[in-house]
Parts: sequence; C-alpha cells; structure tokens
Amino acid sequence: MRDIPHWIGGREVAGTGDVRLPVFDPATGELRAEVVAATPEEVRAAVLSARKAQPAWRAASLSRRAEVMFHFRDLVDEHRKEIATLLSSEHGKTVADAAGEVTRGLENAEFAAGAPHLLKGDYSEQAATGVDVYSIQQPLGVVAGITPFNFPAMVPMWMFCNALVAGNTFVLKPSEKDPSVSLLLADLLRRAGLPDGAFNVVQGDKVAVDALLADPDVQAVSFVGSTPVAKYISETSTRAGKRVQALGGAKNHMVVLPDADVPTAADAAVSAGFGSAGERCMAVSVVVAVGGVGAPLVDAIKERIENIRVGPASDPGAEMGPLITGEHRDRVRSYLDHDGGTVVVDGRTAPITQGPGFFLAPSLVDNVDIDSPYYRDEIFGPVLSVVRVDTYEEAVALVNDNPYGNGTAIFTRDGGVARRFQYDVVCGMVGVNVPVPVPVAYYSFGGWKTSLFGDLHMYGPDGLRFYTRTKVVTSRWPDPATSEVDLGFPKVR
Ligand code: NAD
Repeated sequence: MRDIPHWIGGREVAGTGDVRLPVFDPATGELRAEVVAATPEEVRAAVLSARKAQPAWRAASLSRRAEVMFHFRDLVDEHRKEIATLLSSEHGKTVADAAGEVTRGLENAEFAAGAPHLLKGDYSEQAATGVDVYSIQQPLGVVAGITPFNFPAMVPMWMFCNALVAGNTFVLKPSEKDPSVSLLLADLLRRAGLPDGAFNVVQGDKVAVDALLADPDVQAVSFVGSTPVAKYISETSTRAGKRVQALGGAKNHMVVLPDADVPTAADAAVSAGFGSAGERCMAVSVVVAVGGVGAPLVDAIKERIENIRVGPASDPGAEMGPLITGEHRDRVRSYLDHDGGTVVVDGRTAPITQGPGFFLAPSLVDNVDIDSPYYRDEIFGPVLSVVRVDTYEEAVALVNDNPYGNGTAIFTRDGGVARRFQYDVVCGMVGVNVPVPVPVAYYSFGGWKTSLFGDLHMYGPDGLRFYTRTKVVTSRWPDPATSEVDLGFPKVR
C-alpha cells in the first residue's frame, strides 16, 4: 500500500500521524493508497518552512517571480498527460476531462506571469505642494489554501499562482480523496525554480485544516468546498483575524425560454449536467423549462442521455466516469427514492452500476417540486432535475430565491430578454446560451449568497487583490523654500 506524503521544504516528507485515510480508484473500487493525515505539529512545520522562505522569495524581483510562473506553465503543459492520467486514477473523471481541467488551471499561471504589469501601483504627483502620493501592493506573508476533491489540479492553481507571484509563500491542504496531483504540482514548481519552502503541501482532514486556521503565521485562507465547511472556515478564520475567501456549494439553474433552440439547449443541459458525473460546482443541476418548451426539451435530453457512454477513464470511448467514493455514490443514488418528481431516466438500472466501481449512470427527473430534496439539496452527482414554470418572471424568482448563487444560464434567441436576465439575476456568474460560464483567468471566479463567504472572488484581478495589501506612501523631499512649522491638520489646498 502506497502512503501519500506531505511536501515540506522542497521535498516529500513521510507523515508520522496515526490517522490513515483511504484513496480509492473510483473506477474499480480498489483501495490504492492511504493519506497519512498531518498532525498539528506537521502542519506547524509546513507553516514554519513557508515563513522561513518568504522574505527571500518576496525580495526576488518581479521579473524573477514571473519567470518562475512561465517555467511552471511550460512544465505543466509538457506533463499535461501525466497530470491528467494521475488525476483520473484518483478522481475517476475521463482523461480528456482531466486534461481540460489542467488547461483551465494553466490559464492561472499565464495570468500570474503578467504580474509585473498587474502589480503596478498608483502615483499622484504634487498631491500637495512638493508632496507626492503613491500606493504599492505588498504580499501578506504565509497564506493557506484548502481545496475540494472535484478539481484537484485546477482549484489549487486558482490560488497558488497569484499568491506566489505576489511574493507570498503557500501551504496547500488538498482533498484527502485525490491527493497525489498536489505532489506532482509541487515538484513542477520546484523544477520551475521556486525556492524550497515557498510551496508546501500538508495532507489530511479537519485536523490539518484546524491547525492552519489556528496558526498565527497564516495570514490569509482561501477555501473551496461545500457551503457548511465554507461557512465554518470563514467564521473561524475571521475570528482569528485572518483574511478569508471561502467558496461554497451550488445549485445552478439553466433557464430555457420557449423561443430557445431545443436541440442546442438539450446538448448544453446534458453536457453541463453530466460532465464529470455532475461533480462540478458549475454543473447545471436544475433545468427551468418555461412555457411549452418543457415536453420537447425533456424528450431531447432523454434521447441524449441514452447515448452517453459511462465507463472508466481507461476506456477511451467513455464520456462519463464514476463518482468519487462508494459512500458518495450511495448518497446520490438515494435521491432517486424520493417523491417530488417523475424519474424519466433511472441511472440505477444501467449494468455498469452493478460492478465494483462507484458508477451511477445519468438520471433525469421531470416535474420536480421545489420543496423536494431534488431541488433543495446540492446533490453533486449525475441527477438532473427539470422544474416547469409558466413565465420568465417565475424562472427568475426561482434563481433569485435559491440560497445558492454560483452560476446560472439562460437559453433564448431574444437578446433583449437575455440582457434583462443578466440584469435581474442574483448570482455571481451568468451564461447567455453558455451552460457552464466559468470566467476566463483574467476575470475572477465567485458566486453570491451562500456560494461565497468573503468579499473578493478567486483568481484573476480579485485574486491578486486578495493576496496583497495596499500601502500608501505620502512623500516630500527636503525643499527649504516650502518648509515651515504648521500644527494644523495636513491639507492639500
Ligand atoms: P468539502 O467541503 O467536503 O471539502 C473541501 C475541503 O475541506 C477538503 O480539503 C476537506 O478535507 C476539508 N474539510 C472537509 N470537512 C471539513 C471540516 N468539517 N472542517 C474543516 N475542513 C474540512 O467539499 P468536497 O466534497 O471536497 O467538494 C465538493 C464541494 O465543493 C461541493 O459542495 C462543490 O459545490 C464545492 N465546490 C465549490 C466550488 C466553487 O468554486 N464554489 C468549486 C469546486 C467545488
């Protein structure tokens, strides 16, 4: 049995704790490795390693820090297949999907490589007579990232690319369910020229997370995961005086208006509902069918679902893989026993669900009641609900009344209504005929309501703001001609 180590001070370090957490191959159900969960002392060692490395890394020129990001970008690109294959073996998503994840992660290294331009401050000459005022953005110090199982490469890259290039050092606590990619990324950062100690990984669970949240040397915490844990991270970090951004769960609505092109909307609903087995925070989990579009849309979605090939990542023809664990698969399956909707396609009946892997084929539930668990809960699996409403206004009210506010999309040919939707919806990311509107890396990613606790979104311009603090300097150089004693409050006129 392989033990998953930590990464501290530029190398792998075997864990010494007693708690061992299983890592499965979800396609076979086999136990493949064990995470030796970090003890609080091991977390402290990682933070101290980051603290020790930070002054020298901060002192490296902006060009040097950007150069490391350039090299890292190239190395990730070169090792894309290896990263994607490793990721699939622990997560279960298809290799093509995993490679897509790596590409979206890589965008963040590309953005961060532009830091010399992005970290320029402001300058006001002659703010008062002989006085200039300027602002500079400085790193926070040691920052921590805590990440979920569903994007084990991309989400850490959302965080550490910007954090590092801004001159911080980093401690990552990846998901214990698919931890190996974090070590591969750590090694690529080392090979890219990042000094030892600037990037560290502690493997583990709540014990490791709590040790990071309590550590006085951790200045800021970035979190991505479920809403209850995001709330806990936000409250605990805030109480400890840390800066925090905590992204939570989602229930993303795709609104389909009567004028939409039904085949296009059905393709989009199926791609966004069942890609990565529905284990995406930007997955479409509810289709809101407005007016008469319901019946033809449900027929078109059903027809497409029946053609989806479910299988292991080792099957090059597979389009959808298993779920992350047997426990999660059973939880998702159990929804199909509930009342509150008509099960049109039942993923439990597919032969592949009888094997040892954690498979559940796509399911479609029509006429979902909004008081039922189908609608209320974030199921986080391949179960797509359809809610039927009569009007655009009812559809928007559903999106806006939902406690989550991560992403939403509208499918229509009417530009005026699409523009109205973009104005009306209470949601952080909106797609117009785009079902998974994950912003490109030079915008920022974040939901509203219980999908994000904190002020700044993740990556892009908000990411750099999150990982820096602004200092404003007011400066006057000696000029005897304008010097005098004045006990009044400094004024500029
Ligand atoms: P999770 O909340 O169970 O775990 C996320 C991280 O928190 C992991 O590293 C885990 O070890 C740690 N953790 C779990 N329980 C904890 C506790 N009680 N105290 C402290 N730390 C704890 O989430 P997950 O199951 O890994 O990922 C799926 C969830 O993440 C879904 O809800 C999904 O919507 C969400 N997600 C959100 C986004 C987003 O950008 N908003 C992106 C990806 C995933």
